[in-house]
Amino acid sequence: MSAHDVVANLKELAKLTSTAEGAQRLAWGPVWRDARQWFNGKLAALGITSEIDAAGNSWATLKGASDRTVIIGSHLDSVPNGGWLDGALGVMAGLEALHMFNGQQPPVTLKVVDWADEEGARFGRSLLGSSAAAGSLQISEVEHLIDKTGVKLVDALRENGVELSRMHESQKYLKAIDAKAYLELHIEQGPVLESMNKSTGVVQGTFGVERHLLRFVGQAAHSGSTPIPMRRDSFLAAAESALAFRDIANKHTTPSARVVCTVGTVKVEPGIVTAVPGVCEISLDQRALDAGVLAKMLAEARAASWTIAAKNNVSVEWKRIWQIDPRPFDQKLIALCDQAVREVTGDAPHLPSGPLHDAAEMVPHMPVVMMFAYSANGLSHCKEEDTPEAYLLKTIEAFLLLVKKTVYST
Ligand SMILES: [Zn+2]
Repeated sequence: MSAHDVVANLKELAKLTSTAEGAQRLAWGPVWRDARQWFNGKLAALGITSEIDAAGNSWATLKGASDRTVIIGSHLDSVPNGGWLDGALGVMAGLEALHMFNGQQPPVTLKVVDWADEEGARFGRSLLGSSAAAGSLQISEVEHLIDKTGVKLVDALRENGVELSRMHESQKYLKAIDAKAYLELHIEQGPVLESMNKSTGVVQGTFGVERHLLRFVGQAAHSGSTPIPMRRDSFLAAAESALAFRDIANKHTTPSARVVCTVGTVKVEPGIVTAVPGVCEISLDQRALDAGVLAKMLAEARAASWTIAAKNNVSVEWKRIWQIDPRPFDQKLIALCDQAVREVTGDAPHLPSGPLHDAAEMVPHMPVVMMFAYSANGLSHCKEEDTPEAYLLKTIEAFLLLVKKTVYST
């Protein structure tokens, strides 16, 4: 097995599908199709022909002695001006795993899946192909989607041989697989491994998310004539709440379980330098790996906002924008991943994933684990996205070892 071949393939793909601004493998577009065609050529060299399911996901299969199947998944699509590793790293590592077992019959079957439209960069719906296969995609939620140039999702799909109304039939393909495990290698896309100076991490699962809009309503008033004790300042209540939310996240963070909360938007009315803000709207995004902790964080944030609103003589209303449950990975696979990372790199830090991945869609259906590679400066979705080569090679080696361990595990 050669981690060097994986890096060489990644560089070849980047050369073929990037401009000076970065990777351009936007899902359902011509460059993405080129990338898939190039990948099919690599598979052909191993004597493998890929199959496309009803959602446009591309599956490469190496038959083993049994139908039990280890699935290795990731995505070839990228955001516009994206990096060379996001998604592609996992697919190229999968190709190398097929190469590793090619010519010998592995005890179980191996499948490498290139999920269609993981990024959602064109139509705004991430994990499109994997959620269709997992059965969590509602057609009604996506049938109206249109890209920036006015192209409908349904037409972009049709151009690629995918019928929107039949995407859910990809569930049949997934259900027919006797899945032993799902493995995904990805770059971290954050600064945690870098802060520890570790090449490789074991991923515990993907965060659950509670996302709300909070609207504080007081009274707009003249900034010169209204004494401070008589004000109903909605911004101050929102600001005080934001500080309380940070305290709540800090309180629930332990060395083994980091949680986060973010107030990412703030809007005040009337938005005049000489007026006390009568209305202030902020967003709150809370994330944790443990569903109980996430529920507690939300309850505490609500309570804090009510207390603070009352103190400031304003009202507050909460509106949920989005929610997803945490998707913890399989304990046995986490242990195998820990062994593989430790054997290759000497240590095995565990961390949660903040971003969602296709792996999260597989959690209800089979045992899942992910491995993360160090992201330089925590950057991704940009041309600066990188992992130092020595760290990249170590991580690929560790992942290929994880594949071996999983294939031979009982
Ligand atoms: Zn990705």
